[in-house]
Amino acid sequence: MAKNIILLGPPGAGKGTQAKRLEDDRGMVQLSTGDMLREARSSGSEMGRRVAEIMDKGQLVTDEIVIGLIAEKIEAGSEGGFIFDGFPRTLKQADALGALLASKGTTLDAVIEMRVDDAVLVKRITGRYTCGQCGAVYHDETRPTKVAGTCDACGSHDLRRRADDTEEALTTRLMEYYKKTSPLIGYYYAKGDLYPVDALAEMDSVARAIAAVLDGETA
Ligand code: ADP
Ligand code: AMP
Repeated sequence: MAKNIILLGPPGAGKGTQAKRLEDDRGMVQLSTGDMLREARSSGSEMGRRVAEIMDKGQLVTDEIVIGLIAEKIEAGSEGGFIFDGFPRTLKQADALGALLASKGTTLDAVIEMRVDDAVLVKRITGRYTCGQCGAVYHDETRPTKVAGTCDACGSHDLRRRADDTEEALTTRLMEYYKKTSPLIGYYYAKGDLYPVDALAEMDSVARAIAAVLDGETA
């Protein structure tokens, strides 16, 4: 049965990495508000121009903008279920997500809390690069491409680093996470939807732990 899940965790926790695997393994659809906002920026749209500076500083863009982006995607539906990656990030966004899913007659099945220590995040973020064509996620040390400069997944040479993947912007992004997003841990715990996973483990172990939640092997 289709499942809708949230991957919840600070920048660098591994949300995008695991979302891509779930898309490949289970036909789920990744909804990354960060990716949607970056796409808006590169398209040169009015909204993209408005959010660019905010994103580069590591601050959150307004709830209205991201809720609008997500609403369009939920409206389109997904047979395999949705993976919410980087959304919701505030209590207002969480309430809006619940209402949007309810309006489509569906619900949230699990919120995977990806637990990490801040100490690993600087290394993960400053070593990250992604494929500009298919979105595959790499790391200089823990997951380099097999052939330097070529995406393993699609063969593109369009490998990019993000403007906000600096130590300076990460400090702001972490503060935003603790102030505005971490209260969602209590919010979903109270609803009985929260499943903590050790996201410090290597990528395959994290994937297995998430699969166990999706397959109902954890209570
Ligand atoms: P997020 O989407 O939560 O910001 P990413 O999935 O982009 O995080 O991962 C951040 C960086 O850390 C990437 O370079 C990725 O290759 C690497 N990474 C992801 N998961 C792990 C892991 N379990 N162990 C080591 N490195 C990881
Ligand atoms: P991410 O790709 O998830 O790391 O997001 C990159 C940046 O996009 C964030 O630092 C924010 O500026 C913005 N952003 C992404 N998702 C959201 C969201 N749900 N709410 C507010 N801002 C967001």
